Amino acid sequence: MYAILGVVVVVVLILGGLVVIGAVVDTQPTPKATTTGAAPTSQPTGGKVADKGDFKAFYSTSSDPTNRVIESAARQSNLVEEISLGLNEAFALPYDVGLGMAECGDPNAFYSAKEKQLTICYELFAFLLEVFENDTDRVAGAFTFIIFHELGHAVIDVYQLPAVGREEDAADQLATLMLIKGADDDGASALAAAEFFDRISGGQLNFADEHSLNEQRVFNILCWLYGSDPGKYVRIVGSGVLPVDRAERCPDEYKQLERSWIQLLEPHLKG
Ligand SMILES: [Zn+2]
Repeated sequence: MYAILGVVVVVVLILGGLVVIGAVVDTQPTPKATTTGAAPTSQPTGGKVADKGDFKAFYSTSSDPTNRVIESAARQSNLVEEISLGLNEAFALPYDVGLGMAECGDPNAFYSAKEKQLTICYELFAFLLEVFENDTDRVAGAFTFIIFHELGHAVIDVYQLPAVGREEDAADQLATLMLIKGADDDGASALAAAEFFDRISGGQLNFADEHSLNEQRVFNILCWLYGSDPGKYVRIVGSGVLPVDRAERCPDEYKQLERSWIQLLEPHLKG
C-alpha cells in the first residue's frame, strides 16, 4: 500500500511537468500551411483547436484480492484523477476520452479507438511493483512511460494524426519525449522504462508482433534519451549500454522525433 502511495506522488510530480511541454512547443515556429495537405478542420483563430472534452477518470471494480488492494489504493490516492488532471492541463480534446484502471486478467495497458478509452490494468501495476521490487521511483517512471505510450495511441486516433511507420514506435517516441521534457529527474523515468523492457526481455522472440522487440525498445529509449543531451547522458554510451554505432546517430534521431511530435501536437496543446 505504501509503495503505491509513493508511486502516486512521483507520477504526480512527473505530470506536473506536462505544462513544460506546452511551454517548449510555444517556442517552436508555427508550421506553415501547405498547399498539399488537407485543410485543418475546425481550427479557430490562433491555430489552436477548441477544447471540448476532457480525460475522464474511471475505476472498474475488481474481484481478485491482489487487484482489489491496487484498486483501493489507486482510488484512495486519486491516482487516475491526478493523471487526468495533468493531461487535461496540457491537452485540448475534441470530446471526452476515458482514462482509468480495470481488472483485465493480464498485466497490460491499452487504448480502444472504438470506446475512446485508455485502460491501465490493475495487474500491470502489480507486475511493475514485482519487477522493480517495490522501488517506488522506478515503478512510477515505467508506469508513466506506459501511460504516455497509450496516450500516443490516443492522440493519433483522437486528433487523426498521420502515423507512417509503426504506430507502436511512434507511441514509444512520444512517451520518451514527454518524460524527457516533463520529468525533472535527470532521465530517471526514461531509464526506468528502458530497464523495464530489459527486465521482461529474453523470452520467445515474436517477430510478427506489432511492437518492436523488447530488446529494441530498450535501445530506442536509451538512444533518444542520450540524443536529447549527449553531454549529460554520455554515461549511457561510456558504460557500453548503448553501442557507439547507434549513439552517433541518436542526436539526429531525437531532433527528428522531437520536431515531428511537436509539430503534430502543437495545435492541440493548451498554453
Ligand atoms: Zn502500444
